[in-house]
Amino acid sequence: MMRILSVASECVPFIKTGGLADVAGALPLALAPLDIEMRTLLPGYPQVLAAIGDSGKTVLDVGNLFGGSARVIEAEAAGLKLYVFDAPHLFEREGGPYLDAQKRDWPDNPERFAGLSQIAAMIGAGKVENWRPDTLHLHDWQAALTPVYLQAEKSKNKPATVLTIHNIAFQGIIDAGLLGRLGLPESGFTKDGFEYYGKISALKAGIVFSDRVSTVSPTYATELLSAEFGMGLEGVLRERSTDFSGILNGIDLDAWSPPYKTARGKEKYKKHLLSETGLPSRDGPLFVVVSRLSDQKGLDTLLEALAAIFPHGGQIALLGSGDPDLERSWRAAGEVNPDISVRIGYDEDYAKRLITGGDAILVPSRFEPCGLTQLYGLRYGTIPVVAMTGGLADTIIPANPAGLARGVATGLQVYPNTTDAWARALERTCLLFKQKDEWRRLQKNAMQQPVGWDVSAAAYRSLYKSIGNPR
Ligand code: ADP
Repeated sequence: MMRILSVASECVPFIKTGGLADVAGALPLALAPLDIEMRTLLPGYPQVLAAIGDSGKTVLDVGNLFGGSARVIEAEAAGLKLYVFDAPHLFEREGGPYLDAQKRDWPDNPERFAGLSQIAAMIGAGKVENWRPDTLHLHDWQAALTPVYLQAEKSKNKPATVLTIHNIAFQGIIDAGLLGRLGLPESGFTKDGFEYYGKISALKAGIVFSDRVSTVSPTYATELLSAEFGMGLEGVLRERSTDFSGILNGIDLDAWSPPYKTARGKEKYKKHLLSETGLPSRDGPLFVVVSRLSDQKGLDTLLEALAAIFPHGGQIALLGSGDPDLERSWRAAGEVNPDISVRIGYDEDYAKRLITGGDAILVPSRFEPCGLTQLYGLRYGTIPVVAMTGGLADTIIPANPAGLARGVATGLQVYPNTTDAWARALERTCLLFKQKDEWRRLQKNAMQQPVGWDVSAAAYRSLYKSIGNPR
């Protein structure tokens, strides 16, 4: 039995801001049948403490850490075996895991997540009783200082380390003045270590010092080696390129399970959706979008290209929230055009109704490490029309002439990611929609595509096994 400690700053079903939480929540359950015991170290946010109630027991007393007492509680909740890093002065507060109510970073984020990494290293060094991991699986910058702290631990059988990058945009840049306070060694503060233009980069520490580095799709792994996508870390990643790979995320097949066996069953849900959104009945496809409204997601490009769908009876329903300018421009478009429905907000039930009743789902991201909504689209026979980048490129078999001729296509891919290319792709989708046999074939192929966690779990197992001699 292999033992892995997953170290994450968010985890479904307790606390979530992005795809990292889905991975952290799903992977332990998917690995269990493969004879891997994964436990999860999480910060003691109020949501996590509420979930474990009084069920936990203290397994490590850390004493004073950054101005308050800290301990590790072992507990079980939602089918997951947890170690909770309980430090009320760091984590028991209202607001998000990283931001306060005004959407500003918590000023003590460096201490909060350096603390998480220190605890991970302690567990890795065997400081909790009865359980010692073979490997530490670290997620994103919040856990990425762990290998540095692990080096300082005096322990013989140190565990191996794997860092997974869920989004290179978040790097954990910390003022160099905090070096001493965070207990980081001066010797590591070099260009070959975790120094980054005069500051500390937590993510760089993880990339340089972990035994393996992964990200959440093979294409994103390749893209990250380029200046266009690497956000300054492409050179560091290139140094590690032989130890760097991409493993796709899966989705929760129980939570995302269509209420029909074949896509013919969609009809009634489309009708419901049209009446819910107030969109008129037309003979073209109903496009849907479920997305954060941020620059990454390319929804400005989509809006510029959208005129292409209306001559073909196309319609669109968008759910999203985020950037105020994007919210405003989509809202304005919805107000003047009866075939555009816009709902600003975060609403999982409505997201599900959109994906159930829609004909096609649009994902025009500028970059997309893995992406989940195109996977929901596949499972529901809601044809994904996606930018050819990151995980979007890896999960859709494009309806190009070869894909159509072989009858294997599952969606449409758009390249380059420009307004013109999107206008043409949207028009093509409308025309394909009217070729009923072709469209049904796409839907059938899409719904047969494996999108659960099985394949990914096996790939992570191979990754853990590939580390022969940890450094
Ligand atoms: P990212 O993590 O960059 O936001 P992903 O596609 O990996 O992109 O994951 C987004 C997740 O958040 C999906 O589960 C999606 O359904 C959900 N989501 C995004 N925006 C909304 C929204 N406005 N309402 C409901 N769910 C949303």
